Amino acid sequence: MTPDRVKERVLIHTPFGRDGSLIQEVLHRGGIASCVCAQIGDLEKSVPQDADAVIVGDEALGAPVVERLADRLKTQPTWSDLPLIVMTSGGMETDRSRARLRLLEPLGNVTLVERPVRPVTLVSSVRGALRARRRQYEIRDLLAQRQLDANTIQQSNEELRLANSELQQFAYSASHDLQEPLRMVSIYSELLRKKYAAKLDDQADEFIGYLVEGATRMDQLLKDLLSYTQVTSSNEKSPALTAANQALDRAILNLRARIEHTGATIERGDLPVLPMHEVHLQQLFQNLIGNALKYRREEKPRVIVQAQQQKDSWIVSVADNGIGVEQQYADLIFGIFKRLHNSEAYPGTGIGLAICKKIVERYRGRIWVESEVGRGSTFYFSIPNHGPAYLASKSSDAELMQ
Ligand code: ADP
Repeated sequence: MTPDRVKERVLIHTPFGRDGSLIQEVLHRGGIASCVCAQIGDLEKSVPQDADAVIVGDEALGAPVVERLADRLKTQPTWSDLPLIVMTSGGMETDRSRARLRLLEPLGNVTLVERPVRPVTLVSSVRGALRARRRQYEIRDLLAQRQLDANTIQQSNEELRLANSELQQFAYSASHDLQEPLRMVSIYSELLRKKYAAKLDDQADEFIGYLVEGATRMDQLLKDLLSYTQVTSSNEKSPALTAANQALDRAILNLRARIEHTGATIERGDLPVLPMHEVHLQQLFQNLIGNALKYRREEKPRVIVQAQQQKDSWIVSVADNGIGVEQQYADLIFGIFKRLHNSEAYPGTGIGLAICKKIVERYRGRIWVESEVGRGSTFYFSIPNHGPAYLASKSSDAELMQ
């Protein structure tokens, strides 16, 4: 059956040739095209691909024939349920016809029409069957369209993935390859400063100073860009589970000097096991806590890490008592190289939160901040909980760390 088929075709199978021709004639007068299959083999060949409905005389339907037909009908696609009109004789309510009905059950979509049948009844039964068949074709077309849409989406996703990966490769190569010539600039400007300091005039010293500073800053930017591309370029797809307590411990260990220097306290609530790679979770904590220590006020920093279980995700929060972020910049700060302060007041390149965002989005999560200027900020990130995640016991020794 081709999708653009217009002419419907009814197959007729009655063991007596004359019956078949009579039915065909009645249908023809009712405007319905049909074809007589004298042999059950012919019917089998055309069912179900080449028929819109089938009329069978029940005397043709012995158990072996029903079995052969049922086997053939089993090959129908899921959308198809070929209508079968069975012409019975001998009354519908007799034991014999009830037994016959049971026998026909494997044939699925069966309508019984009792003989003698008036032409108008036969035509309207066949029309009903054809209407039902047309609805099946509509479903088939809908399914085909859906499949087409799904294929298109899949293809677009694949193209997007390729384009992204090319972009990442480019960003990686660019940041990696630029480091070498930059190293030359750094080394020689440093040499220039050492060798000619105080030998040239004041302005020359100042310019050399800018040169060294610019090179150092560009070096930091390239390093940050490199680590940003590395977060996104990992192809690892395997599911991972990480105890947030452990990732937090590692992040705190790496920040120990700054924690001690600022006199900060890091507190934590019960933390879950999250479906993430440990290195990513640690990076998140390190960036968020690192910022909490950096963007502090006069008083000692106080950081609180907590987690809350939602219906199908975990929300982890890192709260501080620092300078806060103005509401209007709450989205902007997650952009790459976006900063609200100059490097003198607060050193940095503006890549930390962009890395956090990339990591969280990799797990189909979200990151955002709620803040009050002059009182502090709370950074939240959500991680969908597809895998097993459960509350790990509180690690008491690291609970309060100074
Ligand atoms: P960086 O710290 O290198 O500037 P980030 O991407 O980590 O880069 O942060 C972007 C900007 O967001 C920072 O420049 C700062 O203005 C703001 N910010 C980040 N964390 C905090 C925080 N805890 N408190 C206040 N401001 C913050």
